[in-house]
Amino acid sequence: MIEVKYTKVGDLEVNCCVITDSTTKKTAVIDPGEVSEFLDYIISEIGYDNVEYVLLTHGHFDHVDGANDIVKKTNGKAKIAIHEDDVKLLADNHLNLSIPFTGKPLKSAVNPDILLKDGSEITLGESTIKVMHTPGHSPGSVCFICDEYIFSGDTLFCMAAGRTDFPLSNNRKMMQSLKKIANLEGDYKVYPGHNDITTLDYERMNNPYYR
Ligand SMILES: [Zn+2]
Repeated sequence: MIEVKYTKVGDLEVNCCVITDSTTKKTAVIDPGEVSEFLDYIISEIGYDNVEYVLLTHGHFDHVDGANDIVKKTNGKAKIAIHEDDVKLLADNHLNLSIPFTGKPLKSAVNPDILLKDGSEITLGESTIKVMHTPGHSPGSVCFICDEYIFSGDTLFCMAAGRTDFPLSNNRKMMQSLKKIANLEGDYKVYPGHNDITTLDYERMNNPYYR
């Protein structure tokens, strides 16, 4: 079982989720766009020693710019993971939208330790996080699925979906990815990359993309 804590970080208010395996306290930080004071407090309570992974739903600057700060606070122990198709975004400050949105590059280059694919599994203590490749918003966008939770990045939002007007976005793939998520069996709590927390059943019923 995992416990989930989250807080909004950065100017674009990314939902940064901190997920902890209940038994072992092993922890992963999803989408640290920035290490705010409150995020630092949440992680300090759990202990930076317990942080094994920084998981990135995709390579846009607002989701990744605090990744190196987290790794530093774990004395270099935490591993950064991203889908292989979004590595090129990390390496390019136009593709990761840092320059277009902020006028500046990322604070420091983010170099992933682990490259993910559809179906990859990440072991967090006694819990397993499954990777579902959901391209569209970016080529290497993923959802992380663990227990009854989906961390859906900028693919599925509450009553909306991620933008597909960025350089490497693909609207057709976004539609397929949204369908792939809806086709999961049962209900899930959905933590999107921005805006409100929701559930998969609520979105299946109400999200305009699912009508
Ligand atoms: Zn994005």
